[in-house]
Amino acid sequence: MSYILSLDEGTTSARAALYDEEGKRVAMEARGFESRYPKPGWVEQDPLEIWQAQLAAARATLEAAGARASSIAGIGITNQRETTVVWDRRTGAAVSPAIVWQCRRTADYCRSMPESDRAAVKKTTGLIVDAYFSASKVRWILENVDGARERARNGDLLFGNIDTWLIWKLTGGQVHVTDVSNASRTMLMNLSSGEWDRAMLDLFDIPDAMLPRIVPSAGAVGRTSGDLLGDEIPVAGIAGDQQAALVGQACFRPGLSKNTYGTGCFALLHAGKTAPSSENGLLATRAASAKAVSEFAVEGSVFVAGAAVQWLRDQLGLIKTAAESDAVARSTPDTGEVYVVPAFVGLGAPHWDGAARGLICGLTRGTTAAHIVRATLESIAYQTRELVEAMEADTGIQLHELRVDGGAAANDFLMQFQADILGRRIVRPADTETTALGAAYLAGLATGFWPSVEAVESFWRVDRAFEPEMPESTREELYAGWKTAVGRCKS
Ligand code: ADP
Repeated sequence: MSYILSLDEGTTSARAALYDEEGKRVAMEARGFESRYPKPGWVEQDPLEIWQAQLAAARATLEAAGARASSIAGIGITNQRETTVVWDRRTGAAVSPAIVWQCRRTADYCRSMPESDRAAVKKTTGLIVDAYFSASKVRWILENVDGARERARNGDLLFGNIDTWLIWKLTGGQVHVTDVSNASRTMLMNLSSGEWDRAMLDLFDIPDAMLPRIVPSAGAVGRTSGDLLGDEIPVAGIAGDQQAALVGQACFRPGLSKNTYGTGCFALLHAGKTAPSSENGLLATRAASAKAVSEFAVEGSVFVAGAAVQWLRDQLGLIKTAAESDAVARSTPDTGEVYVVPAFVGLGAPHWDGAARGLICGLTRGTTAAHIVRATLESIAYQTRELVEAMEADTGIQLHELRVDGGAAANDFLMQFQADILGRRIVRPADTETTALGAAYLAGLATGFWPSVEAVESFWRVDRAFEPEMPESTREELYAGWKTAVGRCKS
C-alpha cells in the first residue's frame, strides 16, 4: 500500500492525515500548541512549538496507520495563512515569536497609510490594507527586533509564512520556498505575475534577501531529511488553508465555490485564469492550481458565523449545545420578523465596517427564545448570500451550487435555509476535512500518485444536497428585511 501524507497546520493545532490510493483517509492525528496574548490585540505563537507539534502529529499518524515513510509518495502542506516568522539562516532560530494573522499590533500603521498607497496595494495585490496580512508584520519585526533590519539586508535572516517555515525545517534548512496561494496573502506579491512586487517591497521596506522563492502549489520542491520520518519524502503540494479547502472540495474549475462555516465563514469562488476585480468588498487571490498554471479566486469572509451559535450557548444560555440550535430553530415556523445581526467585532466583507456592532431588531411581546435562536442561524445564511452576490458581481460568474464544510455545515436547518435564501443548491460532501484533503490532492497530483484531476474529482462524494424550496417572493422579502437590519447596525 502507498500513501500521501497531508500536514494541516491550523491556528490552534497541527494535524496530519494519511490518504490511500482511493483518496480515503486512513489515519489522522493532531497536536495542539499555545497562542500567547502579551498585550490587548496581540497574538503570538512559538515557531519551534508549531514545528514540534507538526512533526509529532506526522509521526503519530504514521504509527496509527502502521505505515512506513518509504510507502509515502509525497507530502502536501496546508497552513494558517499570513502568520509571519523571521529566522536566522545559519542557526535556524526565530528572531521573535511568530506574529499570528489575528494580531492587531500593526493596525495603527496600516490605518495611517495614505490613500494613494492603499489604492496601489489593492491594484497590485488584490488585498485591502490591513494588519491581517504579512507585509506589515514583517516590517514590524524588522523595526522592533534589535539589529534585525541590518541582518535582513545582509541576507542573514529569512522570512516565511508557516508553510515556508515547515518546509525549511522538513528539508533540514535546504529549501526556502512558498507557494503562490500563500504568497498572495503576504501583500507583497503581484497578483497577476505571481512574483514579488518591487513597489510593495519598497513600500513596506522589506529586503529581497529574506524572501522565499515563489513556486506553484503543485510540484516537488525538495525532500524531507531522512532522520525526521524514517526516510526522505518529496514535499510536493503547498497551499494556504482556504485555498486548500477549495481544492479539497474538488473546485478545480471556474464557477465552482465553497463556503466554510467555522467560527467565521470563508467563501471562495474559483475565478479561472485571469485576476478578478475586487470592487465589491472582496479580496482577489491566487487559487492553488493542481496544474501548475496561474489560477485565481475571489474570497469573502464573515467574522462571526459559528461563533454566534457559541454566543447563544455561552452568553445567552438559550441552547445547551451548538447542535441543539437545529431543533430549536425548527420549533418555530419563522422568526416572527426578528433579525439578529451578529456584528460583534464589526462587519467584514462586503461592508468592512469595523465600528459596527450587533443588534437584535423586530422584537415584540411575542418574541421567544426560539425566534432569537432561529434568527441567529439565519444570520449566517444572510451573510453568506451577501458574499455570494459580491462574488458574482466581481467575476461575472453565476454560481450554480455552493459546496460547504466546517463545523456549522453539520446543521441541516441552516443548510436548508441557506439553499432557500440563496436560491441555489447547497452540497455537503462526505469528507468535510477539506483542508487536509486539498493539500493531499495537490501532492498526489504532482507526484503522479493520482493520474489526473478527473481521477481526484471522482473521489469527491456528496453526503447531502439541499435544494431551494422557498418561493422567490418570500426569499426576497426576508432578504430585504435583513438588509434593513444590517443598515441599522452600521457605524
Ligand atoms: P473553526 O475551525 O473556526 O474552529 P469549526 O469548523 O471547528 O471551526 O466549527 C466550529 C464552529 O461551528 C463553532 O463556532 C460552533 O458554534 C459551530 N457549530 C458546530 N456544530 C454546529 C451545529 N450543529 N450547528 C450550528 N453551529 C455549529
